[in-house]
Amino acid sequence: MSNLKYIDCHTHAHFAAFKDDYKEVISRALEAGVAVVNVGTQRDTSARAVAVAHEFEKDVYAVVGLHPIHTEKSFHDEQELGSPPASPGSASGFVSRSEDFDYEFYKKLAMDPKTVAIGECGLDYYRVTSDKGNETRERQKEAFVKQIELAKDVQKPLMIHCRGSTSSPSDAFGDLIDILNSKSSILNSVPGVVHFFTGTVEDAKKLLDLGFYFTFGGVVTFTRSYDEVIKMIPMDRLLSETDAPYVTPEPYRGKRNEPAYVVYVVRKLAEIKGVSEEEMAGQIWGNARAVFRLR
Ligand SMILES: [Zn+2]
Repeated sequence: MSNLKYIDCHTHAHFAAFKDDYKEVISRALEAGVAVVNVGTQRDTSARAVAVAHEFEKDVYAVVGLHPIHTEKSFHDEQELGSPPASPGSASGFVSRSEDFDYEFYKKLAMDPKTVAIGECGLDYYRVTSDKGNETRERQKEAFVKQIELAKDVQKPLMIHCRGSTSSPSDAFGDLIDILNSKSSILNSVPGVVHFFTGTVEDAKKLLDLGFYFTFGGVVTFTRSYDEVIKMIPMDRLLSETDAPYVTPEPYRGKRNEPAYVVYVVRKLAEIKGVSEEEMAGQIWGNARAVFRLR
C-alpha cells in the first residue's frame, strides 16, 4: 500500500451512478491513500454528500450547493440523479427540479463539520439556448451571488464550476470574474477552488490574483490542451480531482470513473510540472489542507 496521501478534491461518489456500490468505491479510494471530497449539485445530492461523509470515520468530506444547470429544470443526467422515480416516493433517483437557492436549507448543510466548501456553484452557458438565454444567465448569476454570500457567512471556500458557450468558450469566465470582482470585499481570504478550469491563461491569471486554487482532472491524461495553463499556475495553487463518474483518465477511458483513479491525474500533473509524483502529491495534499482547512 502506498503511504502517499492523495486527494480527489472534486468527485461525485454519492451520485446515482454509484448507488449500488458507493461504499466499496470510497473504501477502495481510502485504501489507496486517496481522501474524497463529494460535491453536491442540488438539494438531494448536497444532503447525500453530507450523509455519506458521516458514514466514514475520516478522509471523506462534502461540498454543498446548487449547480448552475439546476437553476432550470431542463437538464436531467441519469448518472447524477438516476432514473426519474417510477412512482412517487420511489427511492431510485434524486429529483430534477428548477431550484431557487434556498439559503437556509443550504446553510444547515454548510455548517456541518464534514462540509469543506460551498458548491458546485458558478455559471454554465454550455446548454443555454438563445431564446431564453438572458433569463437563464440571470438566474445562474443570482444563485451564484447567494452562494458567495453563504461562503462568507459560514467562512468556507467556494467550489466553482464555470463553462462557456460553444460559440464563445470564455464568455462565462468573463461574467464570473466580473461577479467575483464586484463581490471582492466579501470573498474569504482563501476564496476557493475553480474546478476543471477551461478558460484562457488570462482568465486563470485574474482568478489567481483573486486568490483562487485550480483543480484538474482526467482530461489532462489524454489531451495536451491544458498543459500551458497548468505550467503557469504556481505549485501552491494546484489541486487534483476526478469528477467521477465523468471524464475517466487514461488508462481507464470508456469505463466509469472513480476517486481511486486520481493517482493517474497526479502522476500526469507531476510530469507537466517536471517534478516527482511524490512531490506533486505532497504539494497537493498541503494545498488541499490549506484551502479546505483539513486537520
Ligand atoms: Zn462536478
